[in-house]
Amino acid sequence: MVDIEQIVRYPSIIRYGHSTSDFELFLNDLLAAVRTHHATVVAGPHTIEVFGRKVVSHIKSFGVKVRQAIASSSDEQSVKEISDVAGDSNLVISVGGGKVIDVGKMAAHGIGVPFVSIPTVLSNDGIASPVAVINGVSKFTTPPIAVYLPLDIIRMAPIRHIRAGIGDLVSNISATTDWELAHAEIGEPIVDIAVLLARGGAFSILGEPVDVTDIEYLKRIAIGLIQSGLAMELAGSSRPASGAEHKISHAIDALYRDKVTTLHGEQTALGTIVAQFLRDADVSHLLDFFRKVDLPTDWNKIGLDDSEMADVLVHAATKIRPERFTVLEKVGMTRQKALRVLGELKNLLMSR
Ligand SMILES: [Zn+2]
Repeated sequence: MVDIEQIVRYPSIIRYGHSTSDFELFLNDLLAAVRTHHATVVAGPHTIEVFGRKVVSHIKSFGVKVRQAIASSSDEQSVKEISDVAGDSNLVISVGGGKVIDVGKMAAHGIGVPFVSIPTVLSNDGIASPVAVINGVSKFTTPPIAVYLPLDIIRMAPIRHIRAGIGDLVSNISATTDWELAHAEIGEPIVDIAVLLARGGAFSILGEPVDVTDIEYLKRIAIGLIQSGLAMELAGSSRPASGAEHKISHAIDALYRDKVTTLHGEQTALGTIVAQFLRDADVSHLLDFFRKVDLPTDWNKIGLDDSEMADVLVHAATKIRPERFTVLEKVGMTRQKALRVLGELKNLLMSR
């Protein structure tokens, strides 16, 4: 059954900018909307220097009391520490990368106050989504009420993070295809507008030109990642942005985290190639795109041999979220099948 009258929570202020006046205008609108007198700013050990202190001093200049919390990992302990620091704050603001956004979002959700997301990198789609990854587990929480993207800061982040954001965004193509498959095969409810938003964001960055240092291209990535977050809220789950390709990424984390140093979005890019190949889709365009962006398309290049990658596919199909039907379940992945498919894909990779 599709709920046609569901209530959707979404960020009501979504801005990007590259100057102090852009940020001040955002804060002005934010503080007029939430009327906070006491906020907690969460940042990472590095991002507090990069942009965190600037955020703190600007908020103070509006007469708001500010507490600060430093988070370096996305685990329960950090969430508790932030919640303790926040005390009677009525607003939590995260300034930083994925982990800082996740723990701030989770803490704000736990203490029941609004959350504001100020990402300093674009490495994944958590910036405006209701999902927070804590101790490696995705939790469905409350989306931020406001998002500000400081493009001048984001542009200075290591280029690998931006590439990972592209990988996470493009993986929506695989994720939404799995959702449609689950709808057709097992009758799982589907939310068409969520499919549209998630896929639209992915397609918007696939065209030419690809320049990850160009502000206009960064805006397209940012808008796509925000659309992904909204799609997840509309879906009531991470479904529009997480299918077989995410299971493959989570399986790499589960089996080979000590050995493989790739970022989440890099792994979902690789997972997208494998999943699309499993669907008999034409992967030539995606392969060309990922190669141009410098995202991994070959598991050997991230340090996994064929046997280990076969283990990843079997683990993804049997141990990661078995209730979420994807192409991995559809083909009934076994080790033998995995080795055969990987062999065929390897031939394709070498022939292009
Ligand atoms: Zn993701």
